[in-house]
Amino acid sequence: MASSTTTRSEALFARARAVTPGGVNSPVRAFKSVGGTPRFIREAHGAYLTDMDGARLVDYIGSWGPMILGHDHPAVREAIAQALQGGTSFGAPGEREVELAELVTRLTGAGRVRFVSSGTEATMSALRLARGFTGRKYIVKFRGNYHGHADGLLVEAGSGLLTNADGVLGPSAPSSAGVPEEYAALTLVSEYNDPVALDALMARRGHEVAAVIFEPVVGNAGVLVPTPEFLAALHRIRASGALLIADEVMTGFRLSLNGATGLLGLSPDLTCWGKIIGGGLPVGAYGGRAEVMDFVSPQGPVYQAGTLSGNPLAMAAGLATLRTLEADPGIYDRLETYTASLAAGLRAAASEAGVPLSLNRVGSMLTAFHQDAPDGAVRTYADAARSDTAGFARWFQAMLARGVYWAPSQFESIFVSGAHTGTELDITLDAARAAYGRVRE
Ligand SMILES: *Cc1c(COP(=O)(O)O)cnc(C)c1O
Repeated sequence: MASSTTTRSEALFARARAVTPGGVNSPVRAFKSVGGTPRFIREAHGAYLTDMDGARLVDYIGSWGPMILGHDHPAVREAIAQALQGGTSFGAPGEREVELAELVTRLTGAGRVRFVSSGTEATMSALRLARGFTGRKYIVKFRGNYHGHADGLLVEAGSGLLTNADGVLGPSAPSSAGVPEEYAALTLVSEYNDPVALDALMARRGHEVAAVIFEPVVGNAGVLVPTPEFLAALHRIRASGALLIADEVMTGFRLSLNGATGLLGLSPDLTCWGKIIGGGLPVGAYGGRAEVMDFVSPQGPVYQAGTLSGNPLAMAAGLATLRTLEADPGIYDRLETYTASLAAGLRAAASEAGVPLSLNRVGSMLTAFHQDAPDGAVRTYADAARSDTAGFARWFQAMLARGVYWAPSQFESIFVSGAHTGTELDITLDAARAAYGRVRE
């Protein structure tokens, strides 16, 4: 049930703003693009968050991706509790790191993997490795793709940056203050889903490019689905000697046990993981071809380190999550079925209320763009930017008031978990029918 008061969240937000910039530790949590007070969360179980005022909310954020099994899953909780008996950090190698590396390499086909503590560290390290391996300086990324907040990647990046100004996507390079132009100049930007532009860029600059990094299914400009022609162009970049880096921080273990790479038949040189790989604790990883990975220190000359890398609690949570997924391969079909029904229900509710929607969905990732393009026609950052963000904000608030916590930005994916059942689907679609009625007000 949704509670009508947000008194405690408001009080905490006021305290938080006095001691933390904007009151939050990651920008999109502040609700800037949808307005209102962010809900402070007391606890989370299964498909639900409970806020500080006691409202129980159906959760479609899943901690922005990691919670594919639902919150507080018993296998994950027990694995962490067991690891805790043995202490919280060793600063020396342990068995769980080996087990998780064996599992990840087996599921993904990577030759070697290195654990870090966040997705940002994974992409940052993979790019340093690509530069060290190729001896080249430049990297290529795509407009609206987000790869974490390392300096050279905050160039035409995704949602948190795109929505914070005033909810509107806008070109800006670099997309953050504090990133020297000289850093940004080493990042070449191309348009997602534009194979002609990528071919042209690589023909001109390919000999200087260390790596092309991409989101194989974009989640950070809202969901964007790659076309087969674009995927073919991505694979062609290797003719120039550049490495192909799939950023599967969001899609890894979500779209299949081998991520988008498995689903779409990609063959990247390096892959970055995060989110699900830590099962709700801080873990990132990068891996790929052994001859490339063996450039990483101490085996090779590319330095990368981490005090808490391979942390036993984090490894335990990741292991329990991936083992649970592997033991229940039907989970991906269930996520597909739920999210397809959710998409169909949203489409019906919106059309009844006369609200145009353009839906993009892959498995349990979904964005309903408030615009009148046909489903699937939103393919680029510029397409996504045509959405009615004010209408989305009204819909978001109406959903929240009815106990459904959607992603607080038009330019984000939502995430369904294995804990979402028909009950939550009914609650969500009842709320959606009412909420679409509020969009035009
Ligand atoms: C979340 C995300 C990152 C950054 O991961 P953090 O753990 O937040 O540093 C990088 N790439 C993609 C595709 C992501 O979705």
